[in-house]
Amino acid sequence: MRDLTCEAVLELRHLQAYLDKIEDRLESFRAIASRHDDGIDFAFPFGEASFRLSPGRLAIRARAAERDDLARIKDLLATAVQVYGKQDNPQIRWTGDLSGETSLPQFREMTVEGITQLTPAMRRIRLAGENLGRFAKFGGMHIRVLFPTVRVPQPEWPSLGANGLAAWPSEDRCPTPRAYTIRRMSVDNGWIDVDFVVHPGDSVGSRWAEGASPGSKLGIMGPVGRPIPLDAEWYVMGADETGLPALSRMLETLPAATRGIAFVEVADESEVQDLANPTSIQVRWILRNGVPAGLDERLARSVVAVKWPENSRSFGWFAAEAIPASIVRNHWRKIMDLGRDETLAAAYWDRTKAGAMATGGAPRG
Ligand SMILES: Cc1cc2nc3c(=O)[nH]c(=O)nc-3n(C[C@H](O)[C@H](O)[C@H](O)COP(=O)(O)OP(=O)(O)OC[C@H]3O[C@@H](n4cnc5c(N)ncnc54)[C@H](O)[C@@H]3O)c2cc1C
Repeated sequence: MRDLTCEAVLELRHLQAYLDKIEDRLESFRAIASRHDDGIDFAFPFGEASFRLSPGRLAIRARAAERDDLARIKDLLATAVQVYGKQDNPQIRWTGDLSGETSLPQFREMTVEGITQLTPAMRRIRLAGENLGRFAKFGGMHIRVLFPTVRVPQPEWPSLGANGLAAWPSEDRCPTPRAYTIRRMSVDNGWIDVDFVVHPGDSVGSRWAEGASPGSKLGIMGPVGRPIPLDAEWYVMGADETGLPALSRMLETLPAATRGIAFVEVADESEVQDLANPTSIQVRWILRNGVPAGLDERLARSVVAVKWPENSRSFGWFAAEAIPASIVRNHWRKIMDLGRDETLAAAYWDRTKAGAMATGGAPRG
């Protein structure tokens, strides 16, 4: 079968000001970039893309063997251009294979199949859906969950825009997105498990998880998130409850010989989980015992105090509230001068904002 290809030509007057950032972002999604006199070629594990530059213009081409792969490359390219090229208001219009399609390849409607109360504040919800193969591909561990709300109980799902990105319905029909982690999945049996933190306050995700019952429906989009290297020899990790599903999944996935240390902050003893951890990464629990979530300084302090080994391929991973995440990111990137390929410190939520991390052009709700 022949490869699928598509193209777009964009007017980007200030491209030179942000081209490096686009390249850097695509590299963080596993592209190997090679520069030429007139542009850049990108080789992904699942296809390829090229940029050809002329004054004020960028011609993009994408090629892959499978539909899902081409859709993924289109999405990565279009997102990178939208994120960094805002000042040029990029008008992306793809031609070629898949260009007439309107169903969003990264979207699935899911139905609640079962619920397990893991701890007082953590509900594991099994979501069943069709054709979930792409959620185990591309290295991303996370999804954007699209919730029905009190205001929009039966949302309309997004479709595929001509620019290769999600086209969202009008506000009165729009679902509300939040970021979550695929804790476990079975492509063959058509389900994913998501561990939802039920937290205080009036909110979309937590409230939905509290009230969900078998048969409840929602949408998911993904996978999202930068792939994490799984071949380092040593890791330092830190997470609060929201990062715990990703941390647990990494512990289960990493090779047994992997060494390191992981700090996990939870409300109290009743939130401690029995983690399957075949690695040599030591797990240490930090109990807030009454300190409100996001305000206990010990998690960030413990993580930044760890001495990294010399002569070892190492990686730092951190996921928690925005302030501890910024402390750790600053320490690793600015004080220790580590690169993006050696660290990922992400804000998973923000004490001061609803839906702070559910990016992707959708309304926050
Ligand atoms: C990549 C990624 C993966 C994530 N994976 C998971 C996951 O697997 N499981 C999970 O539960 N969460 C996960 N999160 C965090 C989750 O997206 C946020 O907690 C989100 O804010 C929850 O949405 P909400 O509608 O419940 O609250 P929002 O409407 O966003 O917030 C409403 C209020 O609740 C507060 N709030 C939000 N989250 C918390 C919390 N955890 N504890 C206390 N107060 C809070 C906010 O400060 C705000 O004032 C992830 C986030 C990211 C970016």
